[in-house]
Amino acid sequence: MTITKIKKDHLRLIFDRLKDSYKLVGPRVENDVIVLTEMDFHDIPAGYKDLHGKGVYRLSGNKDSNTFSFSLGPDSFKRFLSPPVREIFAFKKSKKGISANVSSKEEKPTAFIGMRACDISALKLYDKVFLEGPVRDTGYDSLKRNSLIIAVNCLYPNGNCFCDSLGTGPEVRDGFDLAITEIQDSFLLETGSSKGSEILNGLTIEEVSDKEMDEKNSRTEDCKKTIKRHIKVNDLPWVIYRNPEHPRWTDVASRCLACGNCTQVCPTCFCNSSYDRLELSGISKKSREISGNKVRAWDSCFSKNFARVHGGNFRPSRRARYRHWMTHKLAYWIEQFGSPGCVGCGRCITWCPVGIDITEELEAIRK
Ligand code: SF4
Ligand code: SF4
Repeated sequence: MTITKIKKDHLRLIFDRLKDSYKLVGPRVENDVIVLTEMDFHDIPAGYKDLHGKGVYRLSGNKDSNTFSFSLGPDSFKRFLSPPVREIFAFKKSKKGISANVSSKEEKPTAFIGMRACDISALKLYDKVFLEGPVRDTGYDSLKRNSLIIAVNCLYPNGNCFCDSLGTGPEVRDGFDLAITEIQDSFLLETGSSKGSEILNGLTIEEVSDKEMDEKNSRTEDCKKTIKRHIKVNDLPWVIYRNPEHPRWTDVASRCLACGNCTQVCPTCFCNSSYDRLELSGISKKSREISGNKVRAWDSCFSKNFARVHGGNFRPSRRARYRHWMTHKLAYWIEQFGSPGCVGCGRCITWCPVGIDITEELEAIRK
């Protein structure tokens, strides 16, 4: 890994270069929220500050002279690598029989701009689920393989971040092609792959002085000190396994709306369902033709139907559903994948409409 720097006003040149080969996806302000979407250099919410609390999000502009002065919005990059709705195959039934086609659209590779350490850690968990299990998800595989990750080191954690407790941030360590750290007068650039180095070819890059390295390290340390939320992980998973009948599960169920927001914003939640969609225009009585497609769509363990099987529902109550969600995140996941299924991004706390806080619930169970 090498580290160099560019002048602040040269960042635009990296974007110009990326645009030749990649679709750019990154942060942009829409309806007073920082979302992830197709964007360009001028869309970076430079100077914006985001305030996060339990069920609270406020964005204010032009408050800071730094470019990457903001933290996270509700979107994570899973939206692009495992889209909310994806066609598996299209089918047609006619007098001649049934045919199925897998469509293969040639898409421009995507450069993900501004990915934070917690979201890179979440993608590593996605790799375990979609690439290292018994069935390889070829759709995810090709989207991920064709992508480029431009990471940004966090310097301004929000009030709900607790990545430091899980060792998933705030500093990016690996899993990126290029990582940017903003210091007073420049952007420091770490290359993490040959694709990352190629982007810098021909640009005016300069050596980093010891003083600038010190500035990078002290900014990272200051960021860690700003993180106010922490969880204890040394007694996981047993603190949860030992308490399946703890009264707190009933308490949290009385507050939880089972809306599933927490699972939709969580960068590691991967549950999905598949179903058939018939095209009305594809139904012809005369020729006895039916056409449609099979799609895979995000689902949630908070949805009532998710655990419905022949003979009943094995998680009929909100208590059972919340307990399952938190137990999977912080206990079963460790047995399944070797680490917790939470990367401490805090999104589920910010975007829960009733402000349920996973760190507070864990602590209550522990007590
Ligand atoms: S459980 Fe909450 S804090 Fe943990 S990764 Fe998911 S959204 Fe982030
Ligand atoms: S914990 Fe909050 S966000 Fe999650 S389902 Fe319950 S009410 Fe919705």
